[in-house]
Amino acid sequence: MKNHQKKRCQICQKEFPIGKLFPVRLIRNGVLDTLYHQHPDINRDGYICYSDLREIRADHVEHLLTEDRGALTNLDKQVLDSLASEEILAENVNKKFDQKLTFGERMADKVAQFGGSWKFIISFFSLLIIWMIINAFFLMDESFDPYPFILLNLILSCLAAIQAPIIMMSQNRQAAKDRLQANEEYATNLKAELEIQQLHNKLDLFMKKQWESLLELQKIQIELTEDLLHHRKGEHKKDTES
Ligand SMILES: [Zn+2]
Repeated sequence: MKNHQKKRCQICQKEFPIGKLFPVRLIRNGVLDTLYHQHPDINRDGYICYSDLREIRADHVEHLLTEDRGALTNLDKQVLDSLASEEILAENVNKKFDQKLTFGERMADKVAQFGGSWKFIISFFSLLIIWMIINAFFLMDESFDPYPFILLNLILSCLAAIQAPIIMMSQNRQAAKDRLQANEEYATNLKAELEIQQLHNKLDLFMKKQWESLLELQKIQIELTEDLLHHRKGEHKKDTES
């Protein structure tokens, strides 16, 4: 009877009837790698017993799971590295710019700021009206600037002449500040874009790895179920025979 022929298991070296052995050439590639890794001198045409096969499979699953965990810790490490090595680009441009200003430039900014406010308009208008009332009604003949207020006219012209270049100075500096800010924003955007891309790559890699190991685990479960079925069938046969 061919079914009662005995063969040797290549791992534990015990003899079994051929129905209790599994041919090495039928083992799936992933499990076979683990088998070769543990027993490099195994013969491809030989047999191993089911209990050894189960052990090899368990080792294979354990290997898969630890590999998964390794991938995760690697990912963590990459993120930490990128956080540690890449300096943060976003910074306060205003602060940096203000530190570079000279005293004259700061003064011009303050004057321009005051010149463009309601405070200036109201106080200057009041000054004009007070000047006119004092000279026209209170000092009468001894007024230092009688009607039509030529001195006041001269002062206003001077003020206008000085105010224009001060405002222009302030505007130029605002333009320079805007340019600096635009550059900084561009760098920050670029960095964010690159980082998002990097994250995408990491996620893709991770998903791919996880799918692969899930598939492998599924295959092993199917194999185990088939083994169980095979085993049950054998027992059923024995029961009917006896
Ligand atoms: Zn064995």
